Amino acid sequence: MERTVHYNIEGAEFDVPIYYDELVRQEIERLPDFLEHPIHTPSGERVMLTIEDACENGIPIDGEARCIDCGSCRYYRQTPGTLLGVCSHEAMRKRADIQEMKD
Ligand code: SF4
Repeated sequence: MERTVHYNIEGAEFDVPIYYDELVRQEIERLPDFLEHPIHTPSGERVMLTIEDACENGIPIDGEARCIDCGSCRYYRQTPGTLLGVCSHEAMRKRADIQEMKD
């Protein structure tokens, strides 16, 4: 049976498979591609990877020269102890009216 880690990122719950990597001799999480397969919190905000390249909407945290990834963006809320967090930018929000058009 596949081993997994359960995440709850501000109410967005999902399981991430883990595997043992012989090279580094430790268990590694096989995180999903959050751009290809978006996951949203119950409030519609998008879960992102801290090290994901910054999108065109990114604005650096005060004092930072530039926004290189989500972790350096003022719209990002880091979830402690993980490489995951939530983007609060309106453009990334799941909108019910758009979702209805796709369904
Ligand atoms: S946190 Fe959101 S707005 Fe900021 S770079 Fe990432 S996806 Fe873009």
